[in-house]
Amino acid sequence: MKTLPAVDVVIAGGGWAGLLMAKELGSRTSLSVVVLERGGPRKTENYSTDMDELDYAIRMHMMQDLSRETVTFRHSSAQRALPLRQHGAFLPGSGVGGAGEHWNGVSPRMFPDGFELLSSSTQKYGAKRLPQDHALLDWGVKYDELEPYYTGAENLLGISGKAGNLRGQKIDGGNIFEGWRSSEFPLPPNKIPYFPQLVQQAARSLGYHPYPIPSATPTRAYVNPDGVARPACAYCGYCERFGCMIGAKAQPSNLLLPVIQRHKNVSIRTGASVRRIMPEAEHRKGKARGVIYVDARGQEFFQPADLVFLASWTFNNTRLLLLSGFGQPYDPKSGKGTLGRNLTHQVAIPAATLFMEKPMNLFMGAGASGIRVGDFDGDVFDHSDLPFLRGGALEAIITGHRPIANFGVVPQSVKADWGSEWKKAALYYFDRTAVIGFYGEHLAYKDNYADLDPVYKDSLGDPLLRLTLNWQENERRMADFATGKAVEIGRATGAKDITPFAGLRHYDATRYQSTHVQGGAIMGAAPEQSVVNSYLQHWQTTNLFVLGASAFPQNASANPTLTLLALVLRTADAVVDRYLKNPGPLA
Ligand SMILES: Cc1cc2nc3c(=O)[nH]c(=O)nc-3n(C[C@H](O)[C@H](O)[C@H](O)COP(=O)(O)OP(=O)(O)OC[C@H]3O[C@@H](n4cnc5c(N)ncnc54)[C@H](O)[C@@H]3O)c2cc1C
Repeated sequence: MKTLPAVDVVIAGGGWAGLLMAKELGSRTSLSVVVLERGGPRKTENYSTDMDELDYAIRMHMMQDLSRETVTFRHSSAQRALPLRQHGAFLPGSGVGGAGEHWNGVSPRMFPDGFELLSSSTQKYGAKRLPQDHALLDWGVKYDELEPYYTGAENLLGISGKAGNLRGQKIDGGNIFEGWRSSEFPLPPNKIPYFPQLVQQAARSLGYHPYPIPSATPTRAYVNPDGVARPACAYCGYCERFGCMIGAKAQPSNLLLPVIQRHKNVSIRTGASVRRIMPEAEHRKGKARGVIYVDARGQEFFQPADLVFLASWTFNNTRLLLLSGFGQPYDPKSGKGTLGRNLTHQVAIPAATLFMEKPMNLFMGAGASGIRVGDFDGDVFDHSDLPFLRGGALEAIITGHRPIANFGVVPQSVKADWGSEWKKAALYYFDRTAVIGFYGEHLAYKDNYADLDPVYKDSLGDPLLRLTLNWQENERRMADFATGKAVEIGRATGAKDITPFAGLRHYDATRYQSTHVQGGAIMGAAPEQSVVNSYLQHWQTTNLFVLGASAFPQNASANPTLTLLALVLRTADAVVDRYLKNPGPLA
C-alpha cells in the first residue's frame, strides 16, 4: 500500500453531499481538500446527445455496477439474506455527481414536527398509540434552526415553487400545510402538464389543497448566489435517470463543479473506491487518520487527512463505518449498539392508475413537473379514528413517458395479456395512462436495520451490507388509506377506468420505489441512541463527519435531498466557524 502526502480534508464520495462540502470548504477556507469518488468523471456536455432510454433508464448507465458491489436483502433476521443482483427498489448512483446527476429534482422541505417525531407523536397520541416495536427518535435539531439552511439550499439550487406558509401567513395555491418559510421560492412554479392539471382540478373540487411540486428544474434562467447560471427547463421528458442535456436541472456537475474548479485547493480523484477509515489507535476512539482506497487498477493507497467526511450515500456510509469498526454495530435482540439501526425506505406506491378518454401528450414533462395534494400528509389530518399514524403526499407528476418503460399498461377490463387485443389496447392507452402516486412516511422499527453480511462479499473481498427490512401494519394501512383517496380523486377527474394499488404486503425489493433509503448512521441528541450528533459529527471520533440521509432517524414523506443539503450547509458552518478554531465536539 502506498502512503500519499497528507491533506487537510478527505471526502469519500463525490455526489450531492460530498461535492457541496468540498465547495463550501474550498471557497471559505484554504484547506487542501481531496474528494475520492469511486466512479468516473462527468460534465454536462456528456449528456448533450444522450437521450437513450435503453442505455440510461433500462440498462441503468449511471448506476452502481452491481457485478462489483451490491447489498444483500431479507425481510427478517430469521431469514438468510440473498444478494440483489439486479437494480430494483432503489438505484444507487456512481460517478461524479452521484445520484444527484440523474435525480428528478422534487425538492420539498420536511414538516417541523418530523424533526421531533418521537416527542410530538408521544405528546399528541400517547406512547400506547405508537407501534409496539417502533424505534422513533428526535433528530437533535429543530426545524426553526434548519430553516435558514433550507432557504440557502433552495437559493443554491434555484428551486421553483409557490410558498404556502410565508412566516406563518397561509397562502392559497402553495402548500398551506408546510412549515413556515422565511421567503418565497427563488423561482415561480414549473408549468403543470395536462394530466396533473386534471388531478389538481379534481382535488380542488373535493375540497383538497393541491400545490405545485417544488422543483430543481428552473422555470426561467437562473443565476444562483455563487454566480452559476443555468437555462430554463425545456420539459423534454428526459430527467429521471438522465443527466440534463441542457444543464437546466440542478445537478452537482453543473452547480457545484464550476465553483469547485475555481479553487485550486480542491481536487477530485475518480476511480477511487474507499475501503476503510483508518483509526489513530486500535480502540477506534481518538481520531481518524485518513482513508484507504483502491484505484481503478487495483492499487491500494493510504490518504492521510486531518478531517474525514463520509459522503458515500446511505449504504456505503453505514458500511464503511461497520467495515472500519467506528461505532458499535446495532443488535436488534439486545437493542444495544447504534450503527446500522433505523433503516427506512419512503413508502412510494402507484396508488391509482388512471385510464383517460383523451391523449395527454405525456412525452412532455420534467422530473418534478406536477402537483401534490397535502391534505393527508404528516400529521395535518385527523388520525383519531384511523388505524395508523402519519401520512404522505398524493402526487400527479409527468416526468415524460418513454416508449420502453411506459408501454403496455392496460385497464383490468382488457382480459388478454398478449396478442392482438392486448396490443391494440396497449397502443390506445399508451398516451392515456397516468398515475396518482403516494409518497408516505416510513417509521423506524427495531427490526429494520443494516449490518455486514456474513457470507457475501464485493469484488474486493469486503463483506456486503445486509439489509433487514419489511413493512409493518402502520405502512400497510396508510397505503390502503392513500389508495382510497387516490381513487376518489381519480374518479373526480372523469377517468374512464382506474386500477387501484393492490396493497403493500411485504417489502418488494424488485419494484422501483424511490432512492430514498435512509438511516444506518443516524443523528440524534445522545450517543446512546445515535451515531452522529446533529452536526453529523461522529460522537466518539470528532474529526469524522457522516453526511447524507444515512443520518435521518425516520423517513419523511418529503424527498430527502433538500434536507440533506440543508444539513450539510449547517455542518459546513459549524466546521468553518467553530471546529477549525477549536477542534473537538460540536455538540
Ligand atoms: C432516479 C432517481 C431519482 C431521484 N429523485 C429525487 C428527487 O426527486 N428528490 C430527491 O430529494 N431525491 C431524489 N433522488 C435521491 C437523490 O439522488 C439522493 O438523495 C442524493 O443524490 C443523495 O446524495 P448523496 O451525496 O448522499 O449520495 P449520492 O448523490 O448518491 O453520491 C454518493 C457518491 O458516493 C460515491 N461512493 C459510494 N461509495 C463509495 C466509496 N466506497 N468510495 C468512493 N466513492 C463512493 C458514489 O459513487 C456516489 O457518486 C433520486 C435518486 C434517483 C436514483
